[in-house]
Amino acid sequence: MIVFDLRCAPDGHVFEGWFGSTADYDDQSARGLVSCPMCGSGEVGKAPMAPRVGRKGNQLAVAPAAAPAEPSAEPSAAQVKAMLAELGRMQRRLLEKSDFVGDRFPDEARAIHLGEAEARAIHGRATLADAESLIDEGIMVAPLLFPVAEPGEEN
Ligand SMILES: [Zn+2]
Repeated sequence: MIVFDLRCAPDGHVFEGWFGSTADYDDQSARGLVSCPMCGSGEVGKAPMAPRVGRKGNQLAVAPAAAPAEPSAEPSAAQVKAMLAELGRMQRRLLEKSDFVGDRFPDEARAIHLGEAEARAIHGRATLADAESLIDEGIMVAPLLFPVAEPGEEN
């Protein structure tokens, strides 16, 4: 499995894409199957490798609460909170355009990959083992930054 830092052209969102190999990435990219998980844009390219603040939004979320407030380049707790809130809003906006398929995610992702279902943005649940098989089959999987409530579970 290979992880690329990808970036969308319109807004410069940087995100991770997991692929089976570089060839899988090239193939899916050429077929327009790689899209930005934050804004849905299909104009996505590899981002130059850059030092990361944190690999995942959820890691950022746990760090600042206990960190002492000392002058440094680290973002303040308030800045991190604002950033996470913005990321949460972006994810919500994106998911409005995405079909929630719940536990059927692996099947649905395969059907779309094979052209048996309408190509569209979907999200749902997959175990790590499911995600790894999808990646082995050449299907891009991107982890969501935040847990998603099922439709109907939200208040
Ligand atoms: Zn984007």
